[in-house]
Amino acid sequence: MSQEIEKIKNCPGHSYSDYQKSFQYGRCASCTKDHFIQEFKTWSSGNTDIDEIIQDSQIKSLYAKFQWISYDNFQNIERIADGGHGSMYSAKLEKGMKWNWNFIKQDWEYDLIGYKVAFKEIKDSRYDIIEFLKVVKTVNNFHFFAKYYGISRNPSTQNYIIVMNLFDDDLHNFLTKTFWELGWQSKIDILFSSACCLENLHEKNLVHCDLHSGNILLESIDSTVLDLGLCKLENDKILKSNNKNKQIYGSIPYIPPEVLRGNEFTRRGDIYSFGGIMYEIVTAQRPFADQAHDTYLIIDICNGVRPKVPDFMLNWIPECYLDLMYRCWSDDPSERPTAAELVNLFGDVLENLYNNMMYSTTMQQFKIADENQRNTSKSQKQEFSYSSKLHPQSNYNSRYIHTLYGLHDLLEDFKSGKSSDPNLIKSNEPTTYNVN
Ligand SMILES: [Zn+2]
Repeated sequence: MSQEIEKIKNCPGHSYSDYQKSFQYGRCASCTKDHFIQEFKTWSSGNTDIDEIIQDSQIKSLYAKFQWISYDNFQNIERIADGGHGSMYSAKLEKGMKWNWNFIKQDWEYDLIGYKVAFKEIKDSRYDIIEFLKVVKTVNNFHFFAKYYGISRNPSTQNYIIVMNLFDDDLHNFLTKTFWELGWQSKIDILFSSACCLENLHEKNLVHCDLHSGNILLESIDSTVLDLGLCKLENDKILKSNNKNKQIYGSIPYIPPEVLRGNEFTRRGDIYSFGGIMYEIVTAQRPFADQAHDTYLIIDICNGVRPKVPDFMLNWIPECYLDLMYRCWSDDPSERPTAAELVNLFGDVLENLYNNMMYSTTMQQFKIADENQRNTSKSQKQEFSYSSKLHPQSNYNSRYIHTLYGLHDLLEDFKSGKSSDPNLIKSNEPTTYNVN
């Protein structure tokens, strides 16, 4: 390396150990940090806790720095969907984001200029954005979770905005488009990668609490990431107290029975929700699509009712797979597998599929299942598409649900028709949440 380049590479203001952390010519991690700190007084989110979290990540984190993103940086704002906590938009970052301080140019270098991002405008005052930011800070691992760039605020509504990576597809949309072409290798690939995301979260004692096919985002078939919308720490104190919840947030078909009864959401609760994802992968339908998502469904689920696999599909699904899916749906949380167990099981099957090692009884089941799906007639497929209509009172959009504990006195009233079911969707509620 010539001496001249060596000289340019080395930041004049910082020692070698600092310089080692720098990225490339003219870029110095310490200068970048210093300049972020100098600019602390030039912006504010309007909330000291949020400011502190952003500042802290700019001081401590080398790569994954949150930023305060001014609203006028967004261009071509388009609404993608309305969801439970607010609305999702796509927008171009006109000026991009400050990335590195360049000590040669003595100026910022920007990244993501003109890049399309997604942003969630939080309209729900009960949503704890500070809790969310704390979780993102803990898990900042882009292999498993959506990438969150920073926070902004809509000046006309004063709502906070979470700025994140834009994905082409969530798992639900992907399955809608590709279901008939997907063989078992692809299916297990998706499940393995999703289970890895969940394992990563659970290792950190975090519970997702709202896992469904709409917040599993696809980068490719063998790489999925989770949107961490509601994640929280599994808190021993809360678990040991006899605290009961009157309301919970989510979509009824994915909420485990113990939570519908009013108990806390635990890591084993996420596994129950994962059962719903396993179901959709093999049926192209979300659980309980043909039913109203109301209190009667909650009572059914608490009594052990689980989604049915259509009879004609049964010969496309290995028995061991169905067993595992129903284990995820066990009423007793301790009988459900752990995320680590799912990763091991799917990992083993996947390795055999990749290497075409189809000799064991289990692998023979996968081979036969693939053949059966390929041999399904056109008319059967048509019949299926015809039968898979959504019930008008189904709702996969996460929302606040009254638990059986919260309902207790009301239960008799609405059963006898004296009052209406508070869990039935109102006509003005959005019923879908799709990332287009
Ligand atoms: Zn420097």
